Amino acid sequence: MNISKDQKQLLRRLQTEIEHGIPERYILERLRSFIGEKPKDEDLDPAWKKIWDKYKATAVKLFHPSDFQNLDEAIQSIKIVDDEITKIRVDGDKVVFLLGAGASAPSGIPEVNDLLPELWKRARKIGRDDLDKLAVWCDERRIVNIEDLLTAAYISNFTATNRGITSLLGYFLFSIGRGPEEEEYVSYRRRPIMSQVDVSSIGFLQETLQTLFGLLTSTMISASPNAVHEAIVEFIDKHPDTSIITTNYDGCMDEALLKHSLQIRGTIAEHEKDNSKAIELIKMHGSINWAYCESCQEVREFDLLKMKETYEKDILSYPVIGICKNCKGTRRPLLVPPLSFKFLMFPNLVDIWNSARQTIEAARYLIVVGYSFSEADTYITKIISHSMSMNHSQRMIIVDTNQNLVPTLRERFSSHIDGFDTRRILSACKNAEEVLPQIVNSMLQKDIQESKTSTTEEATKKQQIAKPV
Ligand SMILES: [Zn+2]
Repeated sequence: MNISKDQKQLLRRLQTEIEHGIPERYILERLRSFIGEKPKDEDLDPAWKKIWDKYKATAVKLFHPSDFQNLDEAIQSIKIVDDEITKIRVDGDKVVFLLGAGASAPSGIPEVNDLLPELWKRARKIGRDDLDKLAVWCDERRIVNIEDLLTAAYISNFTATNRGITSLLGYFLFSIGRGPEEEEYVSYRRRPIMSQVDVSSIGFLQETLQTLFGLLTSTMISASPNAVHEAIVEFIDKHPDTSIITTNYDGCMDEALLKHSLQIRGTIAEHEKDNSKAIELIKMHGSINWAYCESCQEVREFDLLKMKETYEKDILSYPVIGICKNCKGTRRPLLVPPLSFKFLMFPNLVDIWNSARQTIEAARYLIVVGYSFSEADTYITKIISHSMSMNHSQRMIIVDTNQNLVPTLRERFSSHIDGFDTRRILSACKNAEEVLPQIVNSMLQKDIQESKTSTTEEATKKQQIAKPV
């Protein structure tokens, strides 16, 4: 897409002005003069659509009908999917799908920001005073991110049991031991980092939050595959060398593959490792059907479909947690909670992360679906950045509704990689469940006309329904 810097600046400025409540009339005038004056070969940013949809009603009244029509046509012609994507033909090239939360959202799986309210709901049922107080405290301070909460609980517990680190933290954060003694005493009294009482309660709290989080995720077992997973399976059916990497714990992708009688490898189960015919599915943050023993670290994988059946029939409410058969230790779900430093904590997953890195490096096309490249996942972003800088023919297709994601990534990669060609990052800025099946069809060289006609037919049907009989 050819979008000038001036256009981007104008868009950003108008977006801020909209937030500040600048009159619609002013915004619309600026939009009209920009579209009227821009060079013909310059594309319009998809973000204009949102502004236009919001102010269209005012524009009808404000502008001359022919002006309005011209503007409306210009906006409606904005490309949501880069043309380049429809030209891609996979000819023995390695394709890797990378799935984030956005790929599972259509299956009804809550995204990160919805998790904390759910966690508090569960906490209230237990009726524990400390959790209630914490919920109120977070509420008052508008702490809504489960990642922040679990990270703070984890760090607190870690420092509580490591005295040396506690005093170092005191030095770094609160200048304890740096100033005159009296001041030091006062600041220490004001911010008592640790007392004997705190140690056990912090540990208990962290434990409870993590258990609640485990319970929360175990409800994901009842989710079923959506159009995203089905489209990937359709693609894999023709290109079995394709790999899938996911940061989701849920079993939707697994289920879609298994139900099409495809075998899976890349999981933690040893016996599948050499099965070269199986499809590679790498679950970087663990899986709801994986568990590990806290004492002997033995990992186990449970049959996902059986687990789902048991859960749905309500035979067991939390299927993975149990007792280790080897050492009688406590078994825990092997899933990485949203922690800021998750990659330090899970030695069981090191092999899995390494194979994710190798797989990403081997890809010609990396199709990224609903993955936000968040700050907390710097590890994955770094792998991709390194891979894109080593392999100059590698291309990324970003399927995401966030209009700012692709511009941000293009900027980020350009600043890291010398002479980076931004056209290596292609954008499909639309709901994944709608657009991914289209992309897959086009890559499989299926007649896209077919899907087009069916949409037109549907539209005609809808119109017919809408008409009074
Ligand atoms: Zn054990």
